[in-house]
Amino acid sequence: MAAFNIVDHEYDVVVVGAGGAGLRATFGMVQQGFKTACITKVFPTRSHTVAAQGGVAASLGNIGEDNWAWHMYDTVKGSDWLGDQDAIEYMCREAVPAIRELEHSGVPFSRTPEGKIYQRPFGGHMRNFGEAPVQRACAAADRTGHAILHTLYQQSLKYKAEFFIEYFSIDLMMDPDGSCRGVVAIDMATGTIHRFKAHRTVIATGGYGRAYFSCTSAHTCTGDGNAMAARAGLPLQDMEFVQFHPTGVYGAGVLITEGSRGEGGYLTNSAGERFMERYAPTAKDLASRDVVSRSMTMEIREGRGVGPEKDHIFLHLEHLGPEVLHQRLPGITESAKVFAGVDATKAPIPVLPTVHYNMGGIPTNYMGEVVTKKDGNPDSVVPGLMAIGEAACVSVHGANRLGANSLLDLVVFGRAAALRCRDTLKKGEPHRPLSKDASDMALARLERLRNANGSMSVAQIRKNMQRTMQNDAAVFRTSKTLKEGIGKLSEIAASLKDIKVSDRSLIFNTDLIEALELENLMTCALATIHGAEARQESRGAHAHEDFPNRDDENWMKHTIAYVDDKYKVKLDYRPVHTYTLTDEVKYIAPKARVY
Ligand SMILES: Cc1cc2nc3c(=O)[nH]c(=O)nc-3n(C[C@H](O)[C@H](O)[C@H](O)COP(=O)(O)OP(=O)(O)OC[C@H]3O[C@@H](n4cnc5c(N)ncnc54)[C@H](O)[C@@H]3O)c2cc1C
Repeated sequence: MAAFNIVDHEYDVVVVGAGGAGLRATFGMVQQGFKTACITKVFPTRSHTVAAQGGVAASLGNIGEDNWAWHMYDTVKGSDWLGDQDAIEYMCREAVPAIRELEHSGVPFSRTPEGKIYQRPFGGHMRNFGEAPVQRACAAADRTGHAILHTLYQQSLKYKAEFFIEYFSIDLMMDPDGSCRGVVAIDMATGTIHRFKAHRTVIATGGYGRAYFSCTSAHTCTGDGNAMAARAGLPLQDMEFVQFHPTGVYGAGVLITEGSRGEGGYLTNSAGERFMERYAPTAKDLASRDVVSRSMTMEIREGRGVGPEKDHIFLHLEHLGPEVLHQRLPGITESAKVFAGVDATKAPIPVLPTVHYNMGGIPTNYMGEVVTKKDGNPDSVVPGLMAIGEAACVSVHGANRLGANSLLDLVVFGRAAALRCRDTLKKGEPHRPLSKDASDMALARLERLRNANGSMSVAQIRKNMQRTMQNDAAVFRTSKTLKEGIGKLSEIAASLKDIKVSDRSLIFNTDLIEALELENLMTCALATIHGAEARQESRGAHAHEDFPNRDDENWMKHTIAYVDDKYKVKLDYRPVHTYTLTDEVKYIAPKARVY
């Protein structure tokens, strides 16, 4: 192996990722006085969280009565009863203090005339256990993620968090006893290798939307943390549940927030019909995302799509008037103009369901600790390792996430991870030496890829993977498409042996970094399609045409997928947590999910 230039660091805590989850954890850690490093492959405020538009859910009740128990009910129902109810109770209850803390930290929320945080309706958020829509999504115009991310970054700097920016984390450092000791990263500008030793490693690397061809997420959403966990022999949970957002701009994938329907926007088909009234008579255009996405797909499949190819749907905002659009939805008015060439004050926007969110990820408990099925116990904690945000699966979103519940997940569980460290970790504890081979896996991978001299470019293999996922593991799934998809994807994974990385340098080698990301995406894609093929029911975002009903008897359980470094997938299952944390709420028993 070539000699690498290696620098060693020691921290109490290392956080990998500087999106909303990573920064909320970093801020919490430094506030407690932990020596904390935050590693990020992009500048913190360029993380995908910056693109979140519509809002963050909390039952503040600023505009009409609200209650965290209603929020909990909506989240359990939205999850199609795959969410863990202890975690959901924790999230909905802690939402209120978590948002107040954000407000006090300086997030510039929009305001009501009395000066309270402005809240808007969002899909699936209802009053009094499903009766009528409620205004629960706290918003900073249509730039909520931007507002939160900037505030958290500034607060982290104020408390002297140490940032390692444009450092790419390659793999975890694991001890033979199964505990996590830190991560190995490459400083992309200089090619130097950095080993971060830490008592707690927090994975906050976001989702893997880029496993698909059309998605709303940033190019950086490549599931790196999920794949690092998989290569460490840890499972990924519920990866078959991929959320499609109903309103990506047709052709571009760019998101038009659900907040636009919250403000009164609606969808029509080629007959000009408001078809959501047929599919979801109560919630209509504000039904849960999977319901709206599937309804749109049905309309298109049945020949009622709009446009010359009859392959998309119209979103109307023009009736809201320029003033509302300018004040409440300025960003999306601009996106409509730039990406669809449409003046939203005058004409409908062409939209299509687009990959938006990964419900699955690294399984954790509600304190942010990674769990694994060790010695038959599905809740064994992996010492030293935590995961939060979209990379994690707590599981609060189950089979389908409600809008505005992800930003909430970031801040609640980012905060929870810091609280857990406060309770379980002493500041400045000395570090044991690492085992001799702690960084071997990461370095061998780097060495193999930078010398890769096959016949296929990174872009070629990536496109093959993305097309297969888009065609065979999207909104509609059948046993046939999924089986074929597995066959194709296995071949594409095998073609990684024939990859070519164009430059051998370690210094600012973007092709090498994209090759690392592609391997990570492949791990996530395989877990997704295998989990989907095995799950013979329809639940939340997983709509299986051959098994159209939810099957609680056989399938109310989490999938756990192991993907090894040869891309072999092994599936197992763990029970859903069907209990609540306190006596104040009762277990919410499964029933049909209608809106
Ligand atoms: C367009 C859009 C709009 C959305 N709107 C909303 C909304 O209104 N409300 C809502 O609740 N949710 C919304 N969501 C979902 C929500 O924004 C995301 O789920 C959430 O922001 C993910 O945050 P995160 O902190 O987990 O990850 P990210 O924000 O994606 O951050 C990941 C971080 O990890 C770092 N990283 C990744 N890999 C590595 C590596 N190998 N080495 C080092 N660093 C690494 C990156 O640099 C980055 O800092 C939206 C999502 C999209 C795509």
